[in-house]
Amino acid sequence: MTPTAKDAKAPAANFLRAIIEKDLASGALQGRRFGGSPGDAAHHAAGAPDPARIRTRFPPEPNGYLHVGHAKSICLNFGLARDFGGVCHLRFDDTNPEKEEQEYVDAIVEAVHWLGFDWNVELDGVRTSHLYYASDYFDFMYRAAEALVTAGLAYVDEQSAEEMRASRGDFNTPGTDSPYRSRTPAENLARLREMKAGALPDGAAVLRAKIDMASPNINLRDPALYRIKHATHHNTGDRWCLYPMYTYAHPIEDALECITHSFCTLEFEDQRPFYDWLLEHLADLGLLARPLPKQYEFGRLNLSYVVTSKRKLREMVAEGIVGGWDDPRMPTIFGMRRRGYTPAAIRAMADGTGASKTNIWLDYAVLDQCLRADLEGQAPRAMAVLDPLRLELTNWAEVYGEGHVEPCQAPAHPQRPELGERRFGLAPQVWIERDDFAEVPAKGFFRLFPPRTLADGSTVPGNKVRLKYGVVVECTGCETDAGGRVVKVLARVLPDTKSGTPGADAVKVKGTVTWVGVHEAVPATVVLYDRLFTEAQPDAGGRDFREVLNPKSKQVVTAYLEPALAGVAPEQHFQFERHGYFVTDRVEHAPGRPVFNRITTLRDGWSG
Ligand code: ATP
Ligand code: MG
Repeated sequence: MTPTAKDAKAPAANFLRAIIEKDLASGALQGRRFGGSPGDAAHHAAGAPDPARIRTRFPPEPNGYLHVGHAKSICLNFGLARDFGGVCHLRFDDTNPEKEEQEYVDAIVEAVHWLGFDWNVELDGVRTSHLYYASDYFDFMYRAAEALVTAGLAYVDEQSAEEMRASRGDFNTPGTDSPYRSRTPAENLARLREMKAGALPDGAAVLRAKIDMASPNINLRDPALYRIKHATHHNTGDRWCLYPMYTYAHPIEDALECITHSFCTLEFEDQRPFYDWLLEHLADLGLLARPLPKQYEFGRLNLSYVVTSKRKLREMVAEGIVGGWDDPRMPTIFGMRRRGYTPAAIRAMADGTGASKTNIWLDYAVLDQCLRADLEGQAPRAMAVLDPLRLELTNWAEVYGEGHVEPCQAPAHPQRPELGERRFGLAPQVWIERDDFAEVPAKGFFRLFPPRTLADGSTVPGNKVRLKYGVVVECTGCETDAGGRVVKVLARVLPDTKSGTPGADAVKVKGTVTWVGVHEAVPATVVLYDRLFTEAQPDAGGRDFREVLNPKSKQVVTAYLEPALAGVAPEQHFQFERHGYFVTDRVEHAPGRPVFNRITTLRDGWSG
């Protein structure tokens, strides 16, 4: 299913809502206890009754910057918690010491906040921060591992990685038992403690669940729970040389935090039986209290014309294909923010896709539609000339007198008078867009063109247009350089035609052009961003995304802006009349050194 721009506004189907409603109605969530410090073995049983109606979580691994797919997951988890009066936890799934960094932790915190969500929640008058680290539960996870070993539900396997792979079997062949599988609990416990004490090198042994090597679900063929890694962890330092596998850690994290609904993407569906196996056994062993969390899977969000794999995004940064994680062409939350997409637009896009049981490809145009819908009613308007060509009004001195500057004004926003007026001046030298002039006009061209004589000897007069908010001018000619390129357009002012005066309607024109007075134009760097790839699915079918880079994804021009834009702060949004939505760059823009990014045009002009 590919939702269209129109769908983005309709209430989206979301089967997860129905699940929550059913659970709330049936009382299935009652009896939970939440309190103590998570990671404490007695956490559940000792806690106070949990006042939250539901608890969800967003569990990023801090090994990169978040992207638009994560934004989807954030909006879904935080959004459902908000809608049902519950709580959503921000939890760092930091169980792999080698790839994780504080820089990413900080960036994730900032991104979730910027999107408009908060893990500091007030319930029954008590304000609590629900930001957690999986690594804070390492002690509990290890105690749970010892308990499983003691109960005969886990064993230390010392086969080589090669042997383990071979004995796992495949879809058609059942696996075979490891020779270490029949060790006694006492032997396993002793060996596990040696692993923990650092007696074994990386890769020498793993702790495995003892389930069923012949299970049709390969994830149940004695999955690994712990591996040895002599590595320093960003939170726990050198305390551990044993680290839990994601599949073992994740259900425990959910249970310790009293999560009611654990929403993950479809690729985890085959892991659900193990999720339940583990939590049921740990509850039977008295380590966790019921009711236990339940996992539900929803389809991933994929956006056309971008890639959303952290690995590929990292490669694009490392190879200099883009300027960094926050390059305005990147589908990272930081990139989208710098580009000028607003939190409301991103949330509208995410909410518009609901939740379904299949992966979704969303057209990039939907994000642009959401942005326009958000900014249309609020972004101040301004005139900017992106591809400047000089226009000279040759009879100015006769009409207005030498040196006169005619004051003009326009509303900051056409529907919002409370935002006030913009003021600027018209003088005989004006910047206009190069494509608002044609020496020989094509059929249907209503902007500036000079008078000319046709083959039959008849003459066509120069065209008349209105300089927006200013006067009507009539084109009389142009000047070209040695190469024939137009360097100046000539026109004469028609007296008494100024906008807002009684004479304004005396001369009818078909074209209106935007302009900026040369005497007061603010020169600015404007970066015209476009899609990074030329193909909707850049990495489809294993294609290398480098083959389909759009060479025109970033074009830098020097533009002229109306004077009101001289002193604006970074991250301010504007609609440049006739051109689209723009934002001052949050990194490079400074008053006196303006840098504007084009977010999107006024209409979807991409032809693929
Ligand atoms: P990547 O595959 O890009 O590395 P990831 O899923 O491995 O992403 P995590 O940090 O593990 O990265 O993801 C955090 C959460 O975001 C997970 O619950 C994951 O399911 C969810 N998520 C990631 N990508 C998407 C997506 N495209 N659509 C919806 N949810 C997503
Ligand atoms: Mg993942």
